[in-house]
Amino acid sequence: MIQTSDTKFEALLEKHHLKKTGPRLKVLSMLAAKNVATSQPDLESVLDDIDRVTLYRILNAFEEKGIIHKVFDLNGTANYAMCSSNCEENHHHDEHLHFNCTICNNVYCLDELNLPALNLPNGFKPTGFTLYATGVCPKCNKLAAKKAS
Ligand SMILES: [Zn+2]
Ligand SMILES: [Zn+2]
Ligand SMILES: [Zn+2]
Repeated sequence: MIQTSDTKFEALLEKHHLKKTGPRLKVLSMLAAKNVATSQPDLESVLDDIDRVTLYRILNAFEEKGIIHKVFDLNGTANYAMCSSNCEENHHHDEHLHFNCTICNNVYCLDELNLPALNLPNGFKPTGFTLYATGVCPKCNKLAAKKAS
């Protein structure tokens, strides 16, 4: 059965005991539609019918519930991306590589990489880790190649 994205997002809110409100559904569908993390100002400019405080509260609630995670870009701006399905309330498992493009500043979640296990020195008990890479994304590489030819 094909689920329309709305039903899918409604189910997601229900699962996390959040009321299904229009603004919440809009924020979810926006974040899910993009393959890069999105900053609050970017969300604001598209979702201009949602006021700043409401948006802030929605993002905070989603992050707390394990629906989205926050990642900071090179400028120190917080960006938000959908979580993998195994995140739980107050317990995130977004242990994937975040790639920050130095040209377009987009932050990509690269879930498809298998990360090696980290052997930390004795006495260190990690509860999570963040891997971060900077460089040039495929889109900007392509643009650069076009310019050069
Ligand atoms: Zn998460
Ligand atoms: Zn780029
Ligand atoms: Zn991510």
